[in-house]
Amino acid sequence: MRGVQPSASGAGMRTPGNKLKSYGTVGHRRIMTPLPKVKQKNMSQPYDRVFNFSAGPCTLPVSVLESARDGLLNYKESGMSVMEMSHRSKAYEKIHSEAESDLRSLLNIPSDYKVLFLQGGASLQFTMLAMSFLQGGSADYVITGAWGKKALEAALLEGSAVKIFDAKDTNYNRIPKFADLNFSPDARYVHFTSNETIQGVEFKADPKTAAPLFCDMSSDILSRPVEISNYSLIYAGAQKNMGPAGLAVVIIKESLIATAPEKLHAMLDYRVHAENGSLYNTPPCWSIYICGLVYKNLLANGGVAAAQKICEKRSGLLYDAIDQSGGFFKGHAQVDCRSTMNVTFTLPSEDLTAKFLKEAQCLNLDGLKGHRSVGGCRASIYNAFPVEGCEVLASFMKEFASRNG
Ligand code: PMP
Repeated sequence: MRGVQPSASGAGMRTPGNKLKSYGTVGHRRIMTPLPKVKQKNMSQPYDRVFNFSAGPCTLPVSVLESARDGLLNYKESGMSVMEMSHRSKAYEKIHSEAESDLRSLLNIPSDYKVLFLQGGASLQFTMLAMSFLQGGSADYVITGAWGKKALEAALLEGSAVKIFDAKDTNYNRIPKFADLNFSPDARYVHFTSNETIQGVEFKADPKTAAPLFCDMSSDILSRPVEISNYSLIYAGAQKNMGPAGLAVVIIKESLIATAPEKLHAMLDYRVHAENGSLYNTPPCWSIYICGLVYKNLLANGGVAAAQKICEKRSGLLYDAIDQSGGFFKGHAQVDCRSTMNVTFTLPSEDLTAKFLKEAQCLNLDGLKGHRSVGGCRASIYNAFPVEGCEVLASFMKEFASRNG
């Protein structure tokens, strides 16, 4: 492990050969701009890893990656990698069933719900749920950002759907109160996105609806306790709080599955997947294995209640830096729906944003560029993200604002 080692000369300058001189190193990286004077505690991470603020795929717990490294070559003396193992083998069956039971424990999932591990990411769920449950009727969609919009577009290819809320007029910086919404009396289901990853707006409580409630929890599942019984269907892409991309976890009420049409393509049929314990075809074994390691790691660290406290701590550090910057940084989301997973903020100009991102990179703060629809920066700080990374970023934000404000 190496920390920040500024060069002895202190100043970066042009050498006689007119090459830019390095200011020092962070891990293996050569720093070509002066390092801002920020709190440098714990800037160096195991294996020279950066603070990865990417929106997903994103940081996984180091101990999980270490276990995966071992499982990659010879899993528990089976003589083979989890990636090389038959999905019908005893060893894999155990991995598969433990992943399910650990997730059930973490989220306290009632026994009348199925837990499915499906391929196609969260995006395929946009289509699959509409194919199964619109059934010639219509559904209500609550649009608080880009992903809700995509879910609605997919549903409209399958049938009829109504936008009962859309925060487009304020560039998706707010969420509604469910009690104020005008639900359609005959809606087959109500769909919403608990955390909009791009805009950084999040629902803080589990709503209740008369029609079956469906939720895309891709970017905040396992970050807080959830009242599962309020929902008929929850789905989440794995690549934020669970594991590798391409896998979606679906938590679905058995009585809802029973209402799905009989003749669907097998791979798009919840009933087929449920009846076969997510082993209808070859499942994404490696991805499920990694999710299982993440679940065990979370259980060993106090579960979702403990995760929630740390999420609040991480995001609190960054929102404080925004609020105490005298308007230099502006948070995108309204205060009551600020996401604990994706902190979105802008700077006074595009030039300053570019400068901020460049300097951040020198501090090993990676992946902070915001989505073009919001601009500015986005710090994605999921469960596995080290708190120290938020301390360094908050400290850098203060230093940057005082130097450039
Ligand atoms: N919903 C949300 C809230 C997301 O953040 C994402 C991905 N960023 C998706 C859906 C789509 O997920 P996938 O790429 O797994 O299809």
